[in-house]
Amino acid sequence: MSKVYVNRSRIHGLGVFAAVTLKPGEPVLAIDDSRLVTPTNPLRPGEEEMHCDYLADCIVVLMQEPERYINHSCDPNSFVRSLHGIRYVLARKTIYIGEEITYDYSMNSCSDFVWHCDCGSARCRFTITADFFQLSYLQQLEYLPLLETWFIEENKLEIDRLLTRALGDDVRPATHEPIAPYSESTNR
Ligand SMILES: [Zn+2]
Repeated sequence: MSKVYVNRSRIHGLGVFAAVTLKPGEPVLAIDDSRLVTPTNPLRPGEEEMHCDYLADCIVVLMQEPERYINHSCDPNSFVRSLHGIRYVLARKTIYIGEEITYDYSMNSCSDFVWHCDCGSARCRFTITADFFQLSYLQQLEYLPLLETWFIEENKLEIDRLLTRALGDDVRPATHEPIAPYSESTNR
């Protein structure tokens, strides 16, 4: 049974909502990355670039439903993490039934795409660039433990610079609870 449903969103257009209460670290859904967009298999009429996601090694996928409807938030309750070759949306905190699932489009991204955000969060950055390295220093440190391994590897120089600065400042990343790997045994 799906743990989510699609409905009209207060943030933008359609959104994805929790059908069950989700615990921190729990998979919300598995992302379907089967539709690769390549020079020989480009977007077809009706398929939109705004639904594309840019992954490791310049791989481009067309997001499928329902995950394509996950809206951005500047204080997201989920994040994306690959496990055994499958990308999962994982809960970052407890998500209650009926709550909209959101993640931060600036994570795992170095795009120059800019938009005006109206997510309603107290931490809203308003003008968003989908570029992790344009986040504030402290926000980068907060998100660091949530980043995809491929993103850290592809941006090793900038990540090393960030860690070196944090060590020099004696700043400890993340003020939120560490997320334990989700264990099936804790699932009913
Ligand atoms: Zn926002």
